[in-house]
Amino acid sequence: MKALHESQPDVAVIGAGPSGLAAMRNLKAAGIDFVGYESHAGIGGIWDWANPKSSVYRNTHTITSKEITAFSDFPMPDEFPVYPGHPQVLSYLNDYADNFGLRAHIRFNDAVEKIARSTDGGWVVSSSDGTQAWFRDVIVANGHNWYPRKPDFPGEFAGRVLHACEYKDAREFADKRVLVIGAGNSGCDIAVECCQISPRVVLSMRRGYNFYPKFIAGYPADQVGMKVRSLGLPGKWASKIMGWLLRLSAGDQQRMGLPKPDHRPLQTPAIVNTLVPYYTAHGRITIAPGVDRFEGNAVRFSDGSTQEFDIVILATGYEIHIPFASNADLDWQGNKPDFYLYAFSKKFNDLFIAGMTDSTGGHFPTVELQSRVISQYITAKRTYPAKAREFDDLIRKNNLDLNNGIDFIDIPRNATQFSLLAFRRALTEHLNLLAAV
Ligand SMILES: Cc1cc2nc3c(=O)[nH]c(=O)nc-3n(C[C@H](O)[C@H](O)[C@H](O)COP(=O)(O)OP(=O)(O)OC[C@H]3O[C@@H](n4cnc5c(N)ncnc54)[C@H](O)[C@@H]3O)c2cc1C
Repeated sequence: MKALHESQPDVAVIGAGPSGLAAMRNLKAAGIDFVGYESHAGIGGIWDWANPKSSVYRNTHTITSKEITAFSDFPMPDEFPVYPGHPQVLSYLNDYADNFGLRAHIRFNDAVEKIARSTDGGWVVSSSDGTQAWFRDVIVANGHNWYPRKPDFPGEFAGRVLHACEYKDAREFADKRVLVIGAGNSGCDIAVECCQISPRVVLSMRRGYNFYPKFIAGYPADQVGMKVRSLGLPGKWASKIMGWLLRLSAGDQQRMGLPKPDHRPLQTPAIVNTLVPYYTAHGRITIAPGVDRFEGNAVRFSDGSTQEFDIVILATGYEIHIPFASNADLDWQGNKPDFYLYAFSKKFNDLFIAGMTDSTGGHFPTVELQSRVISQYITAKRTYPAKAREFDDLIRKNNLDLNNGIDFIDIPRNATQFSLLAFRRALTEHLNLLAAV
């Protein structure tokens, strides 16, 4: 087996997007040597729109404000706007990597093709440059917003069908009749972009959602949400308060032409979009129910109505996809690996996932905290094995409640949904346990 270096680093980190970078930064802080594998030529993950796996479009801005988006130990620059665009996020991530000296550890243009259990423990990592190397621990951070979920509608559509991850620029669709299927954050952004230059834009949604404006009383909506969470109330009360704030700031969105939500705020990730209600009220976006079937250029909806389109954009979300590891090793259950704290394998004490979490409340600080727990656990295995065994006992007991009383609605996009308050609290408690030696 070809080793990467004469003295082999201990840990492999797969992916150099925000999650991989957070993992590397925390390993480095803990003094653990590692190698980062990145299939693309640069860091940044989806925020580098030159990365073939990037799912951002020309006008993507964050839906989380810059204070909430940034890592806790590396603020975004003052000159950034409240909601940075994707080139700014990429430049921030590059600065983060340079500030913490991560770049030199990363093998760019080297995609991991397989991780296999070694008979002596640990993992053999095979990558696209033909190298195989053994690592004591592997942290998977290959992202979960890049592999498209594509529903299979009956019938054939005669125009062009593309997934949101292939959508880059609305100008391509000037003068086209566009149907956007799915009213998640990407679908809403895309409908808003297209409706400014396309003659007809229809947004198909199977259920009503609560649309949060980007500002509530002049403050970024997520910062208001964080204030509500910081009260530490049970999820049902937090949801009630968010509902009141939503009504005060945005009003009754049915009057703007949007369907009534069939769930309370916080029961599904927030749709943050000021402009969908605005353009719906101006008739530039019209709302349709779910799609039943395609019939040439016509699309039949669940209420029996039909309309003709040139373009269908499937904004139907993403699947967790980890093609280089076996489902058995990943303990795949339903549509995701069944990992403790979304990070710790229940089968192997040397396999971790960083960032398999929803981005509500900012992905970066959450994965930062999660990565700190992973690196502390790896340190404990090496230095304080009794502590690591205490942690293993918690994994075995597996009795975490990460929902804080919120009953999330049963839809695929809620697979990685939790109460942010409960999740961050649990991560902090686990970190404290590992730190107490
Ligand atoms: C349109 C859009 C807008 C978003 N807006 C926000 C927002 O406002 N705020 C927020 O907090 N989050 C947002 N997100 C969520 C976003 O996923 C996270 O911010 C973050 O990018 C996730 O980081 P990651 O490192 O886990 O995954 P990614 O960013 O996907 O990075 C994964 C990296 O792994 C690499 N990789 C994959 N497979 C391999 C392999 N086999 N070998 C080596 N390398 C590999 C990829 O090239 C990539 O660089 C948004 C997502 C989308 C799609």
